[in-house]
Amino acid sequence: MSEKITPVPSCADPSDPASISLSEALARIEARVLPVHACERLPIRECLGRVNNEAVKSPHNVPPSPNSAMDGFAIAIASLRPDGITELEEIGTAYAGLPFAGSCGKGQCVRIMTGALIPDGADAVIMQEQAEVDAAGKIRIDSDHRSGENIRQAGEDVRQGETVIEAGVRLNPADLGVLASLGLSQLQVKRKPVVAFFSTGDELVAVGESLQPGKIYDSNRYSLHGMLSRLAVDIIDLGVVRDNPESMRDALTRAASQADLIISTGGVSVGEADYVKPALEELGTTEFWKIAIKPGRPLTFGQIGASIFMGLPGNPVAVMVTFSQFVEPAIEVLSGARLRPPALFRARALDAMRKKPGRYEFQRGIATLAEDGHWQVRKTGKQGSGILTSMSRANCFIVLPDDNAGVEPGDEVSIQFFDWSR
Ligand code: AMP
Ligand code: MG
Repeated sequence: MSEKITPVPSCADPSDPASISLSEALARIEARVLPVHACERLPIRECLGRVNNEAVKSPHNVPPSPNSAMDGFAIAIASLRPDGITELEEIGTAYAGLPFAGSCGKGQCVRIMTGALIPDGADAVIMQEQAEVDAAGKIRIDSDHRSGENIRQAGEDVRQGETVIEAGVRLNPADLGVLASLGLSQLQVKRKPVVAFFSTGDELVAVGESLQPGKIYDSNRYSLHGMLSRLAVDIIDLGVVRDNPESMRDALTRAASQADLIISTGGVSVGEADYVKPALEELGTTEFWKIAIKPGRPLTFGQIGASIFMGLPGNPVAVMVTFSQFVEPAIEVLSGARLRPPALFRARALDAMRKKPGRYEFQRGIATLAEDGHWQVRKTGKQGSGILTSMSRANCFIVLPDDNAGVEPGDEVSIQFFDWSR
């Protein structure tokens, strides 16, 4: 029998006892990362996407007073006879912003517009479509109405003193509108975290330069820049760092002096030119994680001074996967936002997918809505961790949990959307 090499564990193995699970890695990130402390008070328009620092309590009722939900006639329900038509006298008009000064007595009605204050004495608004005007100008209304009809009550949206936006909420456009409805012009939000990032590799060439044999263009800094630009963070691009200990130390020292979070790509595996880990060990504290996911198993996590460091793998797809699964949650925690589990949808697989149990896999897919109303998903071609077009053609990850042992067409899978433009 011929001699064989006994391989040591590697990223080609479906499972590795030294690997931690996805949820374990997330728990460690949550435990280690501390939210930024500082806040700033900003005009509410500038608060979009920012994290609210203190619970916002309403200074008053919204709406402040009862008003009409319809164009029609404000009446006292007691004016209506129990059966048949009642004729009422129109005594004036209430406009939005221009209340009717008098009071609406029995047998009377006030012409009213949407948003106008309900006149004294009235307790219902009859839609104009449900009323008739007779030749003498009397308003005819039948008995089919009830007190409170078409009236927006004071405080029915927000009660005075009620908490409208909790601390730790990332503000969306509706929140800006709600703040404005309370009359608030400014809000205190957490400051933006500062994120510095760099690529590592002697093979990397910047775009615009010519490509010599053995070199490749640095793509990671561009996909990273794109992903970071969608988040409320300040970005520092530290360029390409060459594969030697001094350059790595310099880059990390520079980054740590400016950033809350430092992200590198490449140089975290076990090759001879992988300098990230030793440099981090020298300057700060480090944990090297092998995470049971594919792509993106190796990840270096650590701290230099007050800065968090996340060393992502070098392969371009692994960079984007680990960013979405680990860096984004880290940024959420850093930002002071509440961490939420990713939104997963169920979809019918249109392709077969080979997989061995042992790790979480993030295949790249294109999901569409089928005619029967269910999501369906197909792979975006070859799925190697260097095949970045598998990401750019995708709108979702096909998330195959560790125990999954392969997918047949028609099987149900989970998908996680990341891009609605595809
Ligand atoms: P490494 O982890 O440094 O061994 O890199 C793994 C693979 O990813 C190698 O094929 C690298 O050439 C490639 N790679 C690393 N960094 C980048 C980058 N910034 N852009 C494109 N490919 C990269
Ligand atoms: Mg490298």
